[in-house]
Amino acid sequence: CGIIAYIGERKASEVLINGLKRLEYRGYDSAGIAINDKEEIEVKKGAGRLDELNEKLKFSEIGGRTGIAQTRWATHGEPNDVNAHPHMDCIGEIALVHNGIIENYLELKEELLKKGHVFKSETDTEVIAHLIEEELKSSQDFEEALRKALLKLKGSFALAIVYKNDTDHIYLVRNESPLVLGVGNGEMFAASDVPAFLAYTNKVIFLDDGEYAIISKDSFLVKDIKTGKLKRKEIQEITWT
Ligand code: GLU
Repeated sequence: CGIIAYIGERKASEVLINGLKRLEYRGYDSAGIAINDKEEIEVKKGAGRLDELNEKLKFSEIGGRTGIAQTRWATHGEPNDVNAHPHMDCIGEIALVHNGIIENYLELKEELLKKGHVFKSETDTEVIAHLIEEELKSSQDFEEALRKALLKLKGSFALAIVYKNDTDHIYLVRNESPLVLGVGNGEMFAASDVPAFLAYTNKVIFLDDGEYAIISKDSFLVKDIKTGKLKRKEIQEITWT
């Protein structure tokens, strides 16, 4: 399984699919992509091998410069098209990909069902999108809603998230599942592992557990989930190819 995110000037779908190919060695049963560059977040996903899916769904034909993608190794919900990532909230404003397991998802899902949320998949992951949607109702901005939602999650999660009303940023989260940022020239990447974007940049920032990041094409911020405070992170140069 693996995650990749891209924001910059290139055609995002191509960068993302190239990146996912480099993460195939990690194993997976499904794959999907979300591009956030227009009036709507465009999602394509399905169960199967990357090459077959790309042929069938034409991932790389989606235009746009900001997006996220994932290969899934199912833990909750069988490997099928609906359970493939990205997952969205009720109204399609939030799309996210996840590697890991949300241990308390059933309890969270029950609360959200009572509040009227309608779920499409059987995954633990979809709960996160609805939880952020719910927290948005009582938050000043997306970041606050995200942090409140993250504080309620138990388990392991690497996340990449896009929000329809904020096409200039991608939100990344790491907790007990790997995630590394790639710093380019006027473009930013994030992935489960460096080879996913090493063709584009060798400048990386390793996120630590309990951190989240907000990236734009020419900036990044890393913060602590618990306190919301900024963290000072070092850019490292990868010398292998
Ligand atoms: N637990 C999630 C699911 O089953 C994510 C699995 C993964 O890490 O790929 O959909």
